[in-house]
Amino acid sequence: MEIKFCPICAAELIEREDAQQADKLRLSCPDEHWTHWDNPLPVLAALVELDGRILLARNAAWPEKTFALITGFMERGETPEQGVARELKEETNLDADQISLIGVYEFIKKNEVIIAYHVKASGEVKLSEELLEFRLISPEKLRPWNAGTGHAMADWMRSRGLTPEFMEWPEK
Ligand SMILES: [Zn+2]
Repeated sequence: MEIKFCPICAAELIEREDAQQADKLRLSCPDEHWTHWDNPLPVLAALVELDGRILLARNAAWPEKTFALITGFMERGETPEQGVARELKEETNLDADQISLIGVYEFIKKNEVIIAYHVKASGEVKLSEELLEFRLISPEKLRPWNAGTGHAMADWMRSRGLTPEFMEWPEK
């Protein structure tokens, strides 16, 4: 999202040198009400295990055959684990029975930080409108993307003694 105006006084933001790092320009209010720090946003990702297989879903906005982990943003007042369980319920109707951290991953391209969990889940899959379709894949057949949440999938596979074979995210 591009922010152009001060949220306090609506003046147009100007570029100003950071007080500590002069080589870094920050968008800020000319009257110094507000600075657009543009910090990365945390994103929750779930590698969902259902009856021994991994659930991957395709977002309605993605090209065909692109399946990925369940992801979502945190809500104010919840822990990352609560957020993962809530997103899983909202997007797939599944219940999170066991949640364990896989790791934290850069996603500099989108100015995000990925917090990835392995989630053992139960229940009956009913996708939200955001998701078009899902697949249940045996762990040894997973092919992680060579970016973002793919690195979490690859690390989880290695923890199971599997050797991940990466694939390219399709260009639009
Ligand atoms: Zn202002």
